[in-house]
Amino acid sequence: MKEKPFILVGPSGVGKNTLLEEVFKKYEGIFEKKVSYTTRPTKKFEKNAANYYFISKEEFVKKIETKDFVEYREINGHLYGTCKKELMRINDAGRIPIIECDTQGAININKTGLEGNFLFVYPQSFEQLRKRIGNRIETEEEFKKRIELAITEIELANNSVLFTNRLVNDKLDKAVD
Ligand code: 5GP
Repeated sequence: MKEKPFILVGPSGVGKNTLLEEVFKKYEGIFEKKVSYTTRPTKKFEKNAANYYFISKEEFVKKIETKDFVEYREINGHLYGTCKKELMRINDAGRIPIIECDTQGAININKTGLEGNFLFVYPQSFEQLRKRIGNRIETEEEFKKRIELAITEIELANNSVLFTNRLVNDKLDKAVD
């Protein structure tokens, strides 16, 4: 690829989307976030093709069979995947693709030999993360799952040499820079 993708990783609720919104404003036209495919249900505030391409499990499995994905993962019982064509489209437009995924997804991308810049985002504190996760989910059971997943994500990233860039999202301006 002409432009190395930027792989952005961090637990759900760490503020990756806010960070990206600010980066897109500040560095207009340089980056573009690839849209992932997922089988998870659409949340109230989400739109198809903007947040994710929301597809059925059957459609997702077909895409696995036709080798459309650079990587895909099952997270919290739902499938998420990054499509090769989407990365090429962004690259052909002269922009740097941003891939937002989980830690294991980033490790899998690295295994494919795709060169990229890997960044892991940490929360300011565990309390802050608990609050942000709590604001987003609808059931206690989902809350517990998300917290456990966040801990696993951070532990996995701490033990990986892949993330040559690590960032604590405490002050937005500083984090964007
Ligand atoms: P959420 O359901 O909160 O949008 O996302 C849950 C998790 O899925 C997050 O950790 C997010 O980074 C990850 N995710 C989103 N898209 C992809 C993808 O294409 N591949 C992988 N491996 N993870 C993804």
